[in-house]
Amino acid sequence: MVEMPGLDEKLSDIYQEVLARNPGEMEFHQAIHEVFESLGPVLAKHTKYGDEAVLRRLCEPERQIIFRVSWVDDAGTVQINRGFRVEFNSALGPYKGGLRFHPSVYLGIVKFLGFEQTFKNALTGMPIGGAKGGSDFEPKGRSDAEVMRFCQAFMTELYRHIGEHTDVPAGDIGVAGRELGYLFGQYKRITNRYESGVLTGKGLTWGGSQVRTEATGYGTVYFTNEILKSRGESFDGQRVVVSGSGNVAIYAIEKVHQLGGTVVACSDSSGCVVDENGIDLEVLKDIKLRRRGRISEYASLRGGTVISTSNGSIWDVPCDIALPSATQNELNGRDAKALLTNGCRIVAEGANMPCTPEAVEVLTESGAVFAPGKAANAGGVATSALEMQQNASRDSWTFEHTESRLVEIMRGIHDSCLETAEEYGAPGNYSLGANIAGFTRVADAMIAQGVI
Ligand code: GLU
Repeated sequence: MVEMPGLDEKLSDIYQEVLARNPGEMEFHQAIHEVFESLGPVLAKHTKYGDEAVLRRLCEPERQIIFRVSWVDDAGTVQINRGFRVEFNSALGPYKGGLRFHPSVYLGIVKFLGFEQTFKNALTGMPIGGAKGGSDFEPKGRSDAEVMRFCQAFMTELYRHIGEHTDVPAGDIGVAGRELGYLFGQYKRITNRYESGVLTGKGLTWGGSQVRTEATGYGTVYFTNEILKSRGESFDGQRVVVSGSGNVAIYAIEKVHQLGGTVVACSDSSGCVVDENGIDLEVLKDIKLRRRGRISEYASLRGGTVISTSNGSIWDVPCDIALPSATQNELNGRDAKALLTNGCRIVAEGANMPCTPEAVEVLTESGAVFAPGKAANAGGVATSALEMQQNASRDSWTFEHTESRLVEIMRGIHDSCLETAEEYGAPGNYSLGANIAGFTRVADAMIAQGVI
């Protein structure tokens, strides 16, 4: 067999097996390769992980569900979509992870996200396993009634697979408060149970948690703040670029501004805007959250010196800190070089796997700090676990209390990445630290629970 660059013989063999068993699932291959690249030192130190063939089991989801979603659009036409739920790993708790509604969704994307989620959830230190789901449904351009009928049809199959002790979905791209409401309503109707803990990201009056909406974006910024603090710096005066303008990006921008930095650019799939005075969050929220509009409207609403472009790259905008918060593989090697040339020193992933392997290599080799999504964006799922705690005790906490728990959790993840990186001979390497810390937690629990 051909040895893969960056992998020792055992890992290389398992990786070849993964390629053969999961043909065409590029993103899944990429996510596994990225974790395997970090595991050399831990396998060399602890033979138990290799002996128990834990790695082979870790790469095979415990359950993969694919189902038809049929629904009727406003014109009376029957539409067919494909639904997915990949229950990846339950060593540490019930399966936990979001649902993504986007035309790009196929099994390979859901598996990459479920694999990442397993390590991310382990890093939070909370009792949650890893899963992901979704559909190739495109919510853009659909009426509220269509989105509701789609969500009801989706849940009509999904409900039999989930439960507060089994599998707990939440949101991701294309799934937020509105969709979770329709999904929860249908689950309740079918099962005749008000089972609050079956979904997270619920509305505040019906079992949701304070800070859950903001948590992924806030958490990414808190993580970055810990990086800055470890170098004796703060957000004060930092120039920041945040890609995307969805749930993660909006609340990342809000927290950067609260901590004294300035976000000068953000984007959506149609282009990006640069506002040297700092992105006006109220204008952005109005366009994106209230009207579901396009980012180009920002320039016409804000006027002045705002630059709006549909063909330039957001990564060409000079900044000290970049927070890619849109989607996978949105920042490539060229972009990483452009960021470095313009003085960027920290890249923290708000989205899941937004940096390509080449970008990560460019950043790491240059000595810039790279914080992987499974650590930096874990605040969302961590707050979901806090929502589950509140649901289990029929309690609801204040915003301040919940946010202070989020800050503590992000600090804990940050410190555990750094300590693990140090312990395994790669000081300052957040990727290696995150991968090894997440892996050892999951692997230890799998070994303890036997070959299942
Ligand atoms: N989709 C989010 C993530 O990527 C949150 C998942 C959850 O809260 O279960 O981590």
